Parts: sequence; structure tokens; C-alpha cells
Amino acid sequence: CSQTKIYHSFRPTTPLPPLTTPLSITDYLFPHLNSSPPPTTAALIDATTCRRISFPDFARRIQTLTSSLQNRLHLSKGDTAFILSPNSLHVPILHFSLLSLGVVVSPSNPASTKPEISRQIHLSKPVIAFATSETAAKIPSLRCGTVLLDSPEFESLMTRPTTGDNNNNKRVTVNQSDTATILYSSGTTGRIKGVELTHQNWISVVAGVFAARELRSSPAVVLCTVPFFHVYGMGLFMRELAMGHSVAVCTGPKFDLTAVMRAIEEFRITHVALAPPVAVAMTKGNLMDGYDLRSLEVVACGGAPLQRSVIVKFKERFPNLQVAQAYGLTEVTGRVFETVGLKECGVVGATGKLLSNSEAKIVDPDTGIGLPPMMPGELWLRGPSVMKGYVGDVAATTEILGSDGWLRTGDLCYFDNEGFLFFVERIKELIKYKGYQVAPAELEYLLHSHPEVADVAVAPYPDEEVGQLPMAFIVRHNGSTIDEPQIMDFVAKQVAPYKRIRRVMFVDMIPKNAPGKVLRKELIKLALSKTTSK
Ligand code: AMP
Repeated sequence: CSQTKIYHSFRPTTPLPPLTTPLSITDYLFPHLNSSPPPTTAALIDATTCRRISFPDFARRIQTLTSSLQNRLHLSKGDTAFILSPNSLHVPILHFSLLSLGVVVSPSNPASTKPEISRQIHLSKPVIAFATSETAAKIPSLRCGTVLLDSPEFESLMTRPTTGDNNNNKRVTVNQSDTATILYSSGTTGRIKGVELTHQNWISVVAGVFAARELRSSPAVVLCTVPFFHVYGMGLFMRELAMGHSVAVCTGPKFDLTAVMRAIEEFRITHVALAPPVAVAMTKGNLMDGYDLRSLEVVACGGAPLQRSVIVKFKERFPNLQVAQAYGLTEVTGRVFETVGLKECGVVGATGKLLSNSEAKIVDPDTGIGLPPMMPGELWLRGPSVMKGYVGDVAATTEILGSDGWLRTGDLCYFDNEGFLFFVERIKELIKYKGYQVAPAELEYLLHSHPEVADVAVAPYPDEEVGQLPMAFIVRHNGSTIDEPQIMDFVAKQVAPYKRIRRVMFVDMIPKNAPGKVLRKELIKLALSKTTSK
């Protein structure tokens, strides 16, 4: 609609390199890694083992590993590497090395099951995998095998240049339009898809933070509690390292909130990046009382809505703390809106202002007409961080991404008159459990295969601690006595833990509209009414 208001970013812009210039995201970052921070500053900190890698060591390891990947593992441009690892100091080094060779990086959640991994591998077609001794058994055999990140072999690939390595290095031309990463997302509907992000997509993300650099305190020590396999974590280490900030991670076998608190105290963490459930857990009870958290300047939250009450609790305790919010999605290379600085963070409920180089509009989801400020509609986004598409899936790509470059987010939002974005609700078929994506269609597909299930719908049940719970509404076949634990167990055996069905309700029929679309909101209303009447 020609009347549509298009919102542009008011943030300072760093010009992007011309698209015709060959440049990988690693080459774009490298001059900053070598120059900005003092050489003793840690680029990476393992908050569990206290191991630190300085910026010069970080840069050296990337160079040596790049050479090893090329000369010893014989990887070349266009190959894809599958990565199945929890956060560790090795992961950013591996990513930058692969990316500098034009090898596509495809990380997956280490909690994924074998069938989930085979679907992902079917999409991204990797030639090699990088895993850990815990996760490697889930990976099928690949042409170049599986390398263990926690093995002496990997340490040697990063640290032992062999004579001749440098002479043998072939120069690789990586174009900005080449695919850099394939991340997994279910998008607005359906089963898991591979999101193709290019080097230009990632360059635009990093360029955006260079522009806003003066708004950030320096030197920052950032604790990343979000996974590196997700666009949130991957974007975080790229941006922070590019600005010369230290990135700390907790590397224990399981997520441990007290380890997070200890890390903040011990490493004088200034910024902590979280998903909302961790923020909720931090503010529960007296947990924060036992630690010295005075170094904290910013708690950054993204991936799902953050309740106002949590912000209030943080502010009661630390009046000068900035509780920053960010909104984004995998399909636009992570965050596109964020609140920066004390003033913006003070706008309670706002998920931020548009980042540089991006455009946005709010569109009536039924009529396609653009809407003015204060009117909720679907958020559409355009700009250099919008994905290339879903790998090998033209139909799914055209469903979400128009030929005019606008990406339909599937989120109902509005702008206020100051240009702040407010998230209202998700209109797409996506559940977010602890910030992780759970696609109803995937669970429905599994449950349909159960011989005693006649019909099924899966919908998001609201929950204060985790955001949303996957809830199954089941129509049993005549004569079936299948019960709640059996339904839960059937799904739990086949999916990663975060995708498990956590509530079940048996119903006589699944309500659908005339074209046959499941009315999930009605089902949730029914479940909520049953809970409150109990
Ligand atoms: P993902 O691709 O896993 O990052 O999921 C993207 C989706 O997460 C978005 O389309 C939103 O539905 C949701 N999301 C991300 N950030 C926020 C936020 N700050 N507030 C509310 N929902 C969010």
C-alpha cells in the first residue's frame, strides 16, 4: 500500500562495504580483533575453568585452524560443516576459521535427537561434523568424518602450524553474497527449515554495532548464557568480539544459575545476555543476595517477551542497572530492535528501536494495508540482514519473504509515536519454551502417527517461568484409553527435551475454521478455563 508508513532507523549508520567487494565476515572482523583491545585483554573466558584466551592468541588460533582445515582436513569453499556442541571457547574460533574459508557453518542444538539431526543434515548436506565426545554418537557418518572439539587433535589443529602450511594456503575468494551459515528454524509455520544467512547478513549485524559503539561502555565483559548454536548467541560473540569486549561462558554440563551468579562476581561481568526465563529465575527469592553483583551494568534480554514485573524487581535492587530488551529472529540474523542506554531501557515494555540499515512496517494481517503508530499489525522487516532464504525450499521462502524484500515476521506488534516497538503476540504457529523454538506442526506430525490418536493439535500454554509450554489436545480413537503420561512419553522418546509435551487435554474434537485451520487460541482458552475452575 503506497500509504504505508515505513520506519527507518534513526541510529548512526556505518556504511556497509560495497556488495561487489569479496569479503568474508572473518575478514571484515579481523582488523578489529588485531587492533582494538589491549593485547592482555581476554577475548574469551571460560567461567567454569577460568581459562582465558587473549585477543592475540584468539587471532593466532583462528589463523592456524584455518590453515589446518584447508591443508589437513581438506575443506574448501562451499563445503558445509555441521556443529553439535555446547558453548565452549573453541566454538567461536571454529566458526571464524570455517567462515574465512567460505565453508558454511551449520550449528545445531546438542540436545537434538538422532532423527532431528538427520532431518537437519538432510537439509544442509554437511561433509564434516565438529562435535564433542558427548554428542558425536548422534551424528551419522559423513564424507570427512567427525572431529571432536574436546580432543587433543583439535587443540593441535588450532595451535600447531606445520611447516609449509602457510605456503600451501590457497587464497579463497569469499563473496559477501555467499552463504555463511545455515541455522535451523521452523519460521512462521511447519517443520524445521534451514535458514541461509550470507556473509553480508552477518557483516551488516556487526556494522550496526560499530555505529552504536559510543553508546556502550568499554571495556565490557559480557557473560553469554545463551547458546552459540542460536542466532542470539552467535550474533552476540561476533558483535562483542568485534568491539574488543571479552566474552565469558559457563561451560558446565548443565545450565546452572548459581554458576552464572558466581561468574558475574568473579569475572566482574558488566553485561549479561539472557533469555527471559533466566531473568525470571534470577529475580526469584533471595538468590541474588548471596553474590556481589555490583559490576553489572546491563542485563540484556531477548528471544521472547520479558514480563514487566521482572524488570521492576531488577530495578528495585539495582536502580542504575539497564534492563535492555532486544527483538529479532533467525530469519533476519538475530536482533533488529534493541533498547540502548538508560533512557531507552526505561521505557517499560518496549522491545527497542530499529537498528541501523533496517526498515520496518506494520501491516494489517487480513487486508495487507499498512497501519499507523499505536495500531497493532504484523511486523514486516526489510534490510541487509534479511536471510537469503530457506535452503532448498523455494515454497517456504516465498511464503515468508516477498520479491520486494519484505520479510513477514508472523508477530503482532505496534510502534508508539517515539519509534519504540511493542510486541503484542505471536500470530505464527510457534511455541517458545525457555526461548527455544518448538513447532506445533512437528509435534502434531509425531502424535498423528500414534495408532490411538484420531486427531491432535499442539498449542502454547502460557507459563510465568518458561514463557510457553507445549500442550497437546488429543482426540482419542473410539475405545482408546491412552492417558496423559503415555502421550507425554511417546513424544519425549522422539524429541529433544525442550520440545516435550508438558500438558495434555483430551477433547471430543479439534476446533477448526472453514479452510481447516486449527483454532489454537480457542483450545488454550478452554484449557485455561478448566484450570481456573478447578
Ligand atoms: P528465533 O528465530 O528463535 O529467534 O525466534 C524468533 C521469534 O521469537 C520472533 O519471531 C518472536 O516471536 C520471538 N521473539 C524474539 N524476541 C522477542 C522479544 N523481545 N519479545 C517477544 N518475542 C520475541
